[in-house]
Amino acid sequence: MKAVILDAINKIESREFPVDDLKTGEVLVKIEAAGICGSDRHILHGTYPANYPVILGHEFSGIIEIAPAFSKFKVGTRVNVNPNIACGNCKYCKMGIVNLCISNWAHGVNRNGGLANYAAVPDTQLFELPASLDPRFGALCEPLACCIQGIELAEIKSGDTVAIIGGGIIGQLMVQLAKQAGANTVLLSTRQKFRRDLAESIGATHTIDPTNLNSNEKFSGPSGVAPGGFDVVIECAGTKETLQQSLDIVRSGGTVILFGVMPQDEKFEISPFDLFVRQVRIQGVFTGSRVHAKAANMIAEGILILEPLITHVVGLDDVPHILTGNPILGEVKTLVLPNS
Ligand code: NAP
Repeated sequence: MKAVILDAINKIESREFPVDDLKTGEVLVKIEAAGICGSDRHILHGTYPANYPVILGHEFSGIIEIAPAFSKFKVGTRVNVNPNIACGNCKYCKMGIVNLCISNWAHGVNRNGGLANYAAVPDTQLFELPASLDPRFGALCEPLACCIQGIELAEIKSGDTVAIIGGGIIGQLMVQLAKQAGANTVLLSTRQKFRRDLAESIGATHTIDPTNLNSNEKFSGPSGVAPGGFDVVIECAGTKETLQQSLDIVRSGGTVILFGVMPQDEKFEISPFDLFVRQVRIQGVFTGSRVHAKAANMIAEGILILEPLITHVVGLDDVPHILTGNPILGEVKTLVLPNS
């Protein structure tokens, strides 16, 4: 089969690779769609730990190609994959916080992923999707699950003011989830106008170009969108600058959701006194495996606007230069259709 292989840090290639033999408990999935994620760039550059060689791709869905007798799935069923395999035995698994499993083992990171024609996947990681669903939407379950985890941890209340920083696929999904969680004001900050227009068309009540002068004033100044600060700020850009901005525009007693991923060795200076005196909560979010079923259900039920979020569709051979190049302007989500 064809697959996108990361052989070592910064050494990526699309080439022929053997299909993994099925181990006990595994089924073979023929991949219909796989997403390229910002985290894949971190894995490529070695700023997110991974095992090599590995087939990249942790956002994928497809059709069951081989289902051994033990499997609850039938050949031909459309399924989505929760890429994070929890041990089920550690303290966190027993507490139900499976996304914090101390032995978490992930497709596309530690074992072969979905940027390939086929993937061998434990039956327990699969969620059925309707045969009538647009196959591209299945690949959005994983990023959606992460966003649901972030929204749940944000504890948004009816009428809240929420600022979302960064207008990629994550920011655009967060806009929709924050509205559904009851937020009254949902602001998206992102530099690209196309993304701001998109966010307004799917429910953002306000958008801001952060490169404009005095942008913090426009967020939370006396005549800003949320005078005195937002109840919740969701940082989805993954930069020190946007994390600082998030802390600047959250209200006293508010919550900053640290969702964007920064390089593993990045450091950020905080003012402990400021957090103390303003009683600000900073909440990290690590993956969405705990709520993956919820994401698959939401996608299956069609209750989110997904079509305009898929801006680019490419093949496996395009992935290495996409990941090694600069992010594409005008992109929200690039999907790979390995078997089309
Ligand atoms: P993305 O497409 O790169 O979106 C982030 C966007 O933030 C950038 O494209 C950029 O858009 C915007 N940005 C950059 N600097 C900005 C600034 N100063 N102010 C406002 N916006 C700024 O990535 P994504 O796929 O949506 O993912 C977002 C982040 O979430 C990434 O860091 C990703 O690794 C992370 N993530 C975390 C989890 C988790 O479990 N916590 C799961 C999935 C993804 P403009 O060019 O329009 O400004």
